Amino acid sequence: MKFITIDKKDWAKGIEKSRETYRLFGPVKDKNGFLIKRLEQDILPDMEYHDSIMSAKSILFPQTEKMLSTTLDDSKKDHHIMKRDQIDTTPRAIIGIRPYDAKAIQLVKLNFDTDDYRDPYWCDAYEVTTFVGLAINKPGPFDFSTSTGTGPFCEEGLDILLADLDDQFLAKVLTEKGETFISACGFDTIGDEKESSALFDVLRKEAEKNIVSHIETNKLKEKTILELHEAPFWDDIAFSCINCGTCTYVCPTCWCFDIQDEVKQKDSVRLRIWDTCMSSLFTRHATGHNPRETKVQRVRQRFMHKLKYFFDKYDQGIMCVGCGRCVKSCPVNIDIREVCNIMNSYEKQD
Ligand code: SF4
Ligand code: SF4
Repeated sequence: MKFITIDKKDWAKGIEKSRETYRLFGPVKDKNGFLIKRLEQDILPDMEYHDSIMSAKSILFPQTEKMLSTTLDDSKKDHHIMKRDQIDTTPRAIIGIRPYDAKAIQLVKLNFDTDDYRDPYWCDAYEVTTFVGLAINKPGPFDFSTSTGTGPFCEEGLDILLADLDDQFLAKVLTEKGETFISACGFDTIGDEKESSALFDVLRKEAEKNIVSHIETNKLKEKTILELHEAPFWDDIAFSCINCGTCTYVCPTCWCFDIQDEVKQKDSVRLRIWDTCMSSLFTRHATGHNPRETKVQRVRQRFMHKLKYFFDKYDQGIMCVGCGRCVKSCPVNIDIREVCNIMNSYEKQD
């Protein structure tokens, strides 16, 4: 394992140098908080950020994405043929992604990159991206990532993990992609492997101690779908929900989308747009029939998908990385931690 020490005085210069090869993305302060966005020329990732309102999900899976386009204008090339536009396949790097968000991308990958089906839009974006993580030294009160198989120093899905040491970053280079990025920045001060590894361990343990919020998931697998589906607690959980969809949009692991065609004179585009299982339109059929017509059905679907169906299907834990965004953002305080614990401890009465 290779460790590189980066003096913060050299950080900006290295990042600027990497632009010769990479398109850069990272945390940027917006009027309501931090977002993970394209870093335009001269904008550096704000590595002082704590958490971002939205995750890095949109870098691979944009909120609105053009899938195909065509024209009925006979004078234009390839008229009447639906085709994908040329895409930019030059390398890019997301700098400062939090470890739970990188792990979330691995959970989404289970669905978008399978043996049976490979989503070309998502996979193409994934392949050209280097993930440069920033460990969380002081997790916030909504973070329950240690009970979802991730954590403030989790390395899964990352190419590099950076630890902030006040006047330095210590970079743990995890993959070949990470190695290439570090070289492109010109960072070459190799840290002592034993000392650096021990330091990462100390910081990780310290950070994990700060996580005060936990969930129980150990009994979810042993319950049947029907048992949980028909449990009596869903009315109470769903009662205050206003189906705004915020919890799904902010969630790094939610992947639902809608496909719409838009036509303007002779030109048309097919777009895919984030959608949410919390909306009644999401499942309404063209016939007017809606299998999830009521609010309680939709709320149940969201939690059953994250905490039961995904868990059963992939055997990779729950579809939640414990970032706490949905807990923080829900306008009526519906809390996945409470719902998970209710589901986990539920015993059917005969
Ligand atoms: S954020 Fe809260 S109120 Fe809005 S859909 Fe989600 S659970 Fe319901
Ligand atoms: S369900 Fe909530 S806590 Fe879990 S990953 Fe999604 S936003 Fe984060």
